[in-house]
Amino acid sequence: MTDTPKSLGDSLRDWVAEHRETIIQGLSRLIQFPTVSGGETEEERRGFERSIGEAQLWLMGEADRWGMRTRRLPLGALIIEGGEASECIGVPLHLDVVPPGEGWRHGSPFSGTVEEGQIWGRGAQDNKGSLMAVLHAVAAILTTGRTLRRQVRLIIGNGEETGEWEDVVQARDTEGSPTLCIVPDSSFPLVIAEKGWTNIEVRAHCEESSAPVRLERLWSGDRPNIVPDLAEAELIVGEGGPSRDDVMGMLAVFGPEHEEHSIEVRWSGPGSERCHAVAHGKRAHGSSPHRGRNAALDLLSFLCSTFGDGMGEGVHALLSQLESDCHDLNGGAWGIWGDDELLGPSTVNLGTLRWDGTELRAVLNIRPTRGQTAEGALQGVRSRLTAWHQPGGLRLSADRMGKGHHDPLIVDTEDLAESITACSEAWRAVTGTEPKHLTMSGTTYAKVFPRSIGFGPCWDEEEPGLFHQVDERIPVASHLRNVRLYAEALGRLIL
Ligand SMILES: [Zn+2]
Repeated sequence: MTDTPKSLGDSLRDWVAEHRETIIQGLSRLIQFPTVSGGETEEERRGFERSIGEAQLWLMGEADRWGMRTRRLPLGALIIEGGEASECIGVPLHLDVVPPGEGWRHGSPFSGTVEEGQIWGRGAQDNKGSLMAVLHAVAAILTTGRTLRRQVRLIIGNGEETGEWEDVVQARDTEGSPTLCIVPDSSFPLVIAEKGWTNIEVRAHCEESSAPVRLERLWSGDRPNIVPDLAEAELIVGEGGPSRDDVMGMLAVFGPEHEEHSIEVRWSGPGSERCHAVAHGKRAHGSSPHRGRNAALDLLSFLCSTFGDGMGEGVHALLSQLESDCHDLNGGAWGIWGDDELLGPSTVNLGTLRWDGTELRAVLNIRPTRGQTAEGALQGVRSRLTAWHQPGGLRLSADRMGKGHHDPLIVDTEDLAESITACSEAWRAVTGTEPKHLTMSGTTYAKVFPRSIGFGPCWDEEEPGLFHQVDERIPVASHLRNVRLYAEALGRLIL
């Protein structure tokens, strides 16, 4: 009796079943490197560099074990290649993650705990889950021993979340752009359009020497691309300011009026004149501000209703105009609203807010829709600021922050028919459902590599997308499904 050769699909499915533990433990291990990018202090930045170095070293060992080649480029991107052929299919990925936030339920955000059938931790979906799924998918294909007509190149950047994309741009420019790219930092089944992306910093200067209430400090938000779930203010309430009872009374009124708010006020200092106000909201991805509750907006609204001109006319005008313009999450108040049948409306997220007593810095993470540009968003914000009421020596300006600014991306589906077909067939084979073409409000490396489509890692119908949220996790079953999906799709493109 002779064995009939297994079909590719069967071989890949069996490989995944046989390597189940290795696949789970691989992701759990990668989550344990705390590769949080965008640190504000020297210590945070050093910790990030160290974690990236250690994670890369570990990945190089894993890749080597499956017979892949690795190299690090001068600006830090890690390249992992499987198979040998002149033509190449690219898979851009990122190793950095956003800060974890507070209140994780299962272990620490960097424990990689496997519990309740899920792998928990920051990066489980965005983007370490995808990275390990693709790495194991390539391992599965190589293990079949078939002849490859193309190779696979994983291009792994380290500053995706902060818009510092020079490392992957270098990979594109020096290594050549792959024939086709699959970007697993998006959504399932298939993503063929993305909104644009830009961070605009609004700066204000205002000195209020004689105001009865001195706003000493405002702080909210870790990163522009996250809806902040915490905002804090410190004020000194002097003679002529509202009494402690007035403030607590306002808090009582404010509570029932704004049921979803949670604002706390504490007092300290001699005569209890120092007031600490803290607002709690709900964290969400900056590209979907409607899904979160922006703590900074709640706090601004509370401060303006409670202290008003007591903070000085300039400070009050600044905070109330900022609050009211950012309150419109689609940019209408800034004059940069747009809508599109395919991509949906533009969005604005007040991501970070800092005030030190005289200087304000507020970063708006803006996602232009089709027909709009990143430059248009900047011009819109600048022109709106000139229309703001500017009493009490208030001075305003707006500038781009960082280097990453991207216009919306719409894929040419005819040009990319080959990769769309490969991913669609893989999708049908693994899930048994018809793949829909989606669009997304996020931004990915698809904007760096021409001829890219978005493929995974989350499928709304099976697991929630928890990018940038507390308790980010991926069901073990979904992670194993993803290894098969990437193996089936890449197999069709390289065998
Ligand atoms: Zn990502």
